Amino acid sequence: MTGDIPETADDPQAADWGGLSWSGWHDFDKAHRGNLIPATSGIYRFRARDEPGLLYIGESGQAGGRRARLDDLARGRKRHPASFYLNWRAAGLARRPHRGHYAAPHIRLCEDAGCHAEVSWALEEHPEKTQRRAAETRLIQLHRQATGYDPPIQYGGRGVAAYLEKRRANRARVIRRRRPMSIEEFRNRDDLGYSRWVAGHHRGYVINIQQSHNPRDARLHTAACQTITGTPARGGTFTGDWTKVCSGSLAELDDWALQQFGSVVQRCGTCQPPGAGAR
Ligand SMILES: [Zn+2]
Repeated sequence: MTGDIPETADDPQAADWGGLSWSGWHDFDKAHRGNLIPATSGIYRFRARDEPGLLYIGESGQAGGRRARLDDLARGRKRHPASFYLNWRAAGLARRPHRGHYAAPHIRLCEDAGCHAEVSWALEEHPEKTQRRAAETRLIQLHRQATGYDPPIQYGGRGVAAYLEKRRANRARVIRRRRPMSIEEFRNRDDLGYSRWVAGHHRGYVINIQQSHNPRDARLHTAACQTITGTPARGGTFTGDWTKVCSGSLAELDDWALQQFGSVVQRCGTCQPPGAGAR
């Protein structure tokens, strides 16, 4: 509509996102304790530091404005663990406890999982309720367009569990990737190199795969498996049309296969290495 929208306008964390002017990002507790948050009606947003997208988009028109609203949120999330608010029946309470701000236990869940909550607010004020809610709705839509999902705390926090699960899996993958890879592949009739590797890695694992790396009939073996050691059948070679991808770590070979093919390699029925889930 306005044309010449900078590329960064798509990023829900940008200073000009959605055609609004946003404050910088602040540590939530510091912004709250330092009274940095404006005591006016308007829109605010939360993110996890160093992570893409937003955790939550909110609006407030209450007396005391966003400062008072986020004061409720800041205190509510510290007062009790998330389970107290979300599983209040199991906690033996007769009625749903007052949480200050409905997002309080959801922010707490994210923080307990290691997210560092940061807040930013629109410099524009939205004193009129209908316009303010419409602006909030439009921003949630823009977030979905940019990232493919709603901020997880939106709509009663219904996306939080999935968000945290995905985050946990991503971080585990990053940590594993940082470890030096010890995978070696033997091809071009390098049977000598392969047999030396097997001799030094009795407890290692081997993927037997066509040299084209077609995963269809590949198999994962223990390094001791009789079908891939000893003397090759019919006077052939272990490292010709079929190559050997080797590692001392089963998890590492599974990661390699996941990166290459999107799935782990089927286990050999003879030596029966542990399944993908058993590490
Ligand atoms: Zn085997």
